[in-house]
Amino acid sequence: MPALLEVRDLRTSFVTPSGIARAVDGASFDVGTGESVALVGESGAGKSVLATSLLGLVPPPGRITGGTIRFEGHDLAALGPGSLRDLRGRRIAMIPQEPATAFDPLRRVGDQVAEVARAHGERSRAVAARRAVTMLARVGLPDPERSARSYPHELSGGMRQRVLIAMALLLEPAFVLADEPTTALDATVRAGILDLLRRLQRESGTSLLLITHDLAVVEATCTRALVMYAGQIVEDAPVVDGVVSPAHPYTRGLLASLPRIGDGRGPFRAIQGMVPAATAWPTGCRFRERCDVAIARCTIEEPLLLARQQGGAARCHLAGGGEAASPAFGASVSGSGR
Ligand code: SF4
Repeated sequence: MPALLEVRDLRTSFVTPSGIARAVDGASFDVGTGESVALVGESGAGKSVLATSLLGLVPPPGRITGGTIRFEGHDLAALGPGSLRDLRGRRIAMIPQEPATAFDPLRRVGDQVAEVARAHGERSRAVAARRAVTMLARVGLPDPERSARSYPHELSGGMRQRVLIAMALLLEPAFVLADEPTTALDATVRAGILDLLRRLQRESGTSLLLITHDLAVVEATCTRALVMYAGQIVEDAPVVDGVVSPAHPYTRGLLASLPRIGDGRGPFRAIQGMVPAATAWPTGCRFRERCDVAIARCTIEEPLLLARQQGGAARCHLAGGGEAASPAFGASVSGSGR
């Protein structure tokens, strides 16, 4: 599958009173055309900073300090604000996390969806409004014409999330970044939204990068999980038959901490300790202080992200990685020493 998005050795830093926080510190990964990939990890791992880096929306005083983000022939890390604005919405779209605050509360939702088309060249208000209603129907809003005339507060949380998906997909972007799109929803609504995302993604061939801390969502939605820890991708884990197949101790720990009904594993286990501060990543393996299988080598030698014969890639001395990752990662992994 050809890569639509190629991220290589991406680095994003913030100047803080306690030093330079290297929030994203040499991340490399691909997302193929039509692929659905998850980006998972705890709070503080760097997922949100990575997402804002991809969209050119890193809040000051943060900035991208190195690496490339290749998308449809552009290096997003080097594009100016005008070119990025043109790509956002049209070729790259984002589904935000919080449907309650993502809208202008004083404008009808149909107008807010139609505005996406107007901002990208549709001159006719009537045509933009019709496209909005058609898209609201596609995302399953009941009585879409009436829903379009509603104000955000008149819709339920699940309906608002569907409207946000409609906004993101209105112009049929090639790549959608969904930032915890179901976190604010209850379990039954969440399942419906995930089904909708899967269906629309299949129908339109859109690539999806789903940011989440919920591995159950990953298993229900994605074919690969990029696991982020301490500013780096530590595993590219395949999802086999709806189950994440882990090789890295951190990914195994995340899975072990996931409650599953009726699996007979007894109480779930939390990973001990905390993600270290981004101003002082540890030497050697960044996970070593929390890893229950660490060896002496882990203290002195930083593991590389290496491809595994069984599929995927892991950044661990014990994961059985062979050569320098896959061809997709080879250049950055061997070139950067990460
Ligand atoms: Fe654990 Fe060592 Fe692997 Fe790091 S490299 S995850 S400390 S075994």
